[in-house]
Amino acid sequence: MSTPHLSVDRERCIGAGMCAMTAPSVFDQDPDDGLVILLRPEPAAAHGAAAQMAVGLCPAGAITLHGPKAGSS
Ligand code: SF4
Repeated sequence: MSTPHLSVDRERCIGAGMCAMTAPSVFDQDPDDGLVILLRPEPAAAHGAAAQMAVGLCPAGAITLHGPKAGSS
């Protein structure tokens, strides 16, 4: 089983903070510019659902989840 992994595009990020609020173990915001910081590019299963939710919530489409998605069959 391959591990899902995340990438973020700081060029697109608008600093809305939805990701850091939704999955604080996976995302943080830069204290200087408010842009996303990816803490865990390969989140453990325990954080995977929240990370996936953050992908959907990001208003800028700046987060991409690569690899298998939970729930796909
Ligand atoms: S939710 Fe999207 S736009 Fe907002 S801080 Fe996170 S990556 Fe940036």
